[in-house]
Parts: sequence; structure tokens; C-alpha cells
Amino acid sequence: MIIHLKKSIGLDKAHQIAEDNKAFLIEKEDKYVLISSSSQKEVNPNYTSDVIETFVFPNDMQLSSREYMPQTREIQFGNVKIGGNTNHTILIGGPCSVESEGQIQQSSALLKELNLTMLRAGCYKPRTSPYSFQGLGLEGLKLLAKMREEHGLAIITEVRDATHVHEVIAYSDIIQIGAKAMYDQGILRACAKTNKPVMIKRGFGSTLQETVQCAEFVLSGGNDNVALCERGIRTFETKTRFTLDLTGVAYLKEYTNLPVILDPSHAMGHAYGVADLTRACTAMGVDGLIIEVHPNPKVAKSDASQQLNHEQFKALYKTLPPVANAVGRIIV
Ligand code: PEP
Ligand code: MN
Repeated sequence: MIIHLKKSIGLDKAHQIAEDNKAFLIEKEDKYVLISSSSQKEVNPNYTSDVIETFVFPNDMQLSSREYMPQTREIQFGNVKIGGNTNHTILIGGPCSVESEGQIQQSSALLKELNLTMLRAGCYKPRTSPYSFQGLGLEGLKLLAKMREEHGLAIITEVRDATHVHEVIAYSDIIQIGAKAMYDQGILRACAKTNKPVMIKRGFGSTLQETVQCAEFVLSGGNDNVALCERGIRTFETKTRFTLDLTGVAYLKEYTNLPVILDPSHAMGHAYGVADLTRACTAMGVDGLIIEVHPNPKVAKSDASQQLNHEQFKALYKTLPPVANAVGRIIV
């Protein structure tokens, strides 16, 4: 249940009511917002005069629901806004991992050439083998900060676990919570305490509701800036790396107020399908696309098979505006 309380009751009383209702408390300019379990359907009559309005829900997708907030949240994604009244589909590009300064300079130059504003690249890689390249860690974050300084690019980079979450919060413009890290409570609770935008990637074995509830961990802590990313789920199919759940995307668009970003690269797992899939994603009318592109994919230290080379990325980029326009959007 979400309960809006009058600001005039004061913080102490708001805290007391929150405690009585086992609720989270968020202080807004004009009200206090309490969020308790969706199993609560009524407010104690003692508090009736303190309440502005209440919202009841069938499940714990509450702050994220369109029932509560009908419009998609507007979030500042680096230099551009997504959601809200915008019709923006942000195109985010960059390699799977930061590997060297030379490599990330080339990636930055590609984005600048195309007037794109946000660079993706991981420094803490959640690999499936402990023997594979694990990322450059802090050294990588410093290189990304250098790209922001030198080229004015905004940075999205992933957090793998709670040990380095504060580092990633400090260095990134957007915090990416990886599919395998989606349930990490240490990460979610740290992200709830910052105002930096967070993009949560859906776990490949997670339901839509489980994913949205991860967003609720961040929202209920007071950070309003949460977007979701669909990057493919595991099905019986093995010819492709994952199965991109566009039906789930339609659900998220209909029922939640969270901007949705699509990641065709990780779903496909092979460069050959990424361009077609990206156009399909664009036609879904989503808020963003995140694509892996590498100066020389053959030698990439992670996700080599799915990364586009620069020529492929440029060719794909050219085809997107008409698809976006057909669904009332522009690529930014
Ligand atoms: C990535 O974006 O490089 C990544 C590791 O993605 P995911 O968390 O979706 O596997
Ligand atoms: Mn990757």
C-alpha cells in the first residue's frame, strides 16, 4: 500500500506512522510517502486525518506501477532525458569491457562521430569462469572518467557486487546492475541511497515481477531514477545465447512506469543477428537500446562473438531513424 501523508504532521509523526505500518518513508516537498506491503489494504482509522490519499495494489509492484504513476518516469540519462514527455530512444554503444586506453579512445571516437552521447563498457565483469578476463576494475573506471572529461560522453558501467558499488556510483553517470547481480541486496540498497540513475538488467532466470521488485528496492529507498533492461532470458533454445523477451517488454510498457532499455547484443550472442534484432527492438517503441561494439571484436576480451565492429555499427545506426519515426520516436 502507498499512503500519502500531509506534510503538516511533521517528520516525527511520519516516522511513527511508518513504523506502525512497517513502511518505508520517503520525504517529498509536499508530502510524506509511505510504502508498505501490498497485503495492507487499509490505514488504521487513528491516522485518517493525517492522510491525503491511499493506493492499494494486487502485488508488490507499487511505486513502479502505472496505477500509481501513469506516466513513464522521466530520467536524465547523461546528456539527454528519457521517458516523461520525451519521445527519445537513446542509443548507447560501446564495448563489453574496457580493455585499454587505446581501445576505449576508439570507442569514444565512434560515438562522437555519430553524435551519440553515452558510452557503455564494463570494468567489473561477472564472468561465468574465474579464469576469464575479469575486467580492469578501478583502472577501467578511471579510463571511463577520462573519456567523459575528454569527449563529454556520459558513462554507463556495471556493478558486479556490493564490494565496489560505491566506486561505480562515484565514477558512473548511470549505474548498471548486471543480470547476475540483479538480486544483490547490498547493491540495491546502496543504489537506493543515491540519486544517480540505475539501470537494472533482468536476470535471465527471473520473472517480470521479480525484476520489477528489484526496482522497488531502489525506489522505496527514495531513488526515483530507475530504468529496466531486457537482455534475454534462458529458454530451451540453444542456437541463440538467450531469448529476447519482447512480450515481456510489452507487459512492462503497459503496466510499469519504468523506462525500458533493450539489449539485443546479449540476447543474440552472435553479431550476425544484432542489427535485425535492434530494429525489432526500436519498433517496440522503447526508451533506449544498448549495443556492444568493439574496434576489433575478434580480439575482444569478453563477449567477442556478439560485438559489432565499427562499420557494422555505423551501418545499423543509419537504418534506425525511420524505424523509430514509424513509432513516433527519435533516436538520440
Ligand atoms: C554486459 O552488459 O556486458 C553484461 C555482462 O550484461 P548482463 O549482465 O546482461 O549479462
Ligand atoms: Mn557483454
